Amino acid sequence: MLSLLHKRLYIFIIWAALPLWGFAQTTKPVVPEDSIVIDSLDDGEIEDAVDSVFHYELVRPLGFRFDTLLIPSKNIYNTWDTNFIDPYRENMVLTFDSISLVLCDSSGGCSFVQPCTNAATSGFGYRRWGWGYKFHYGIDFGLKTGDPVYAAFDGVVRVSQYNPGGYGYMVIIRHYNGFETLYGHFSKLLVYPGQSVRAGDVVGLGGSTGHSTGSHLHFEIRYKGKPIDPTRFIDFNTHTVLKDTVTVSTKNFDHLRPTPQQIYWQNYYKNLHTKKKVLYYTVRRNDNIYSIATKFHTTVKRLYQINGINRRTKLKKGRTIRVR
Ligand SMILES: [Zn+2]
Repeated sequence: MLSLLHKRLYIFIIWAALPLWGFAQTTKPVVPEDSIVIDSLDDGEIEDAVDSVFHYELVRPLGFRFDTLLIPSKNIYNTWDTNFIDPYRENMVLTFDSISLVLCDSSGGCSFVQPCTNAATSGFGYRRWGWGYKFHYGIDFGLKTGDPVYAAFDGVVRVSQYNPGGYGYMVIIRHYNGFETLYGHFSKLLVYPGQSVRAGDVVGLGGSTGHSTGSHLHFEIRYKGKPIDPTRFIDFNTHTVLKDTVTVSTKNFDHLRPTPQQIYWQNYYKNLHTKKKVLYYTVRRNDNIYSIATKFHTTVKRLYQINGINRRTKLKKGRTIRVR
């Protein structure tokens, strides 16, 4: 009888431990056989992008070093980051002095090249998005997967990697004129962070990666990490720059201000969390301050505070006190 019980116990232990055995089988460490170690930058001012994105490793030459002196528009930007779209985190709506950026110099003309020569399919501003509306922070150009996409101005590539937020394979270039340009939904990246590019250089091949319903280029012009309407100074139909000098002020960032509806709902939810309903209680026989505090999940100190009473106050039957 005892041996049968033991037998059953052993079977039970083996049965119970089976999933653990399976777990041990599936979590064998995977050792990459041909992993490449990329030379990291040891310059303190430069943040090195060590990515797991294979495109990035493919395009970036081994041992590549980027000199901080080559950063464009150093006088405007406080950092050089090779991962984030907006590492500057400045509030462009509230505190910001207007600045004039020169797109065309007096000698050499304008070095603007249209990133994609096809027609624009969607512009900057609100557009339909499912059941509602959503702000579109760039210009879309229709293209076929594999079509080349060109750098809009001279500059240095800051970001070239996959963006999980929706841009897919994406490139950001910092330009000497003070702007940054963003290109999204690539099928292939052809540049690496720190690479110097001229206007018209191919930076990647068009595609439909990220949140995209079909092959197209999503193109943005940003100032200090925030998108602005590029049609104010570039005509994408004629592929030309409309103004030699562009003044960027808080007006360019009106689209970042919350709408009255957004403010209403923000306040609504804020009040929902902070406002507690005031509650009163009529003292009964045998009640004391401790029993009332326990009853309403509060403290004696809090009850003294909100009622303006102290420990010498006698709580007579029938007296109304505030408990919340
Ligand atoms: Zn777009």
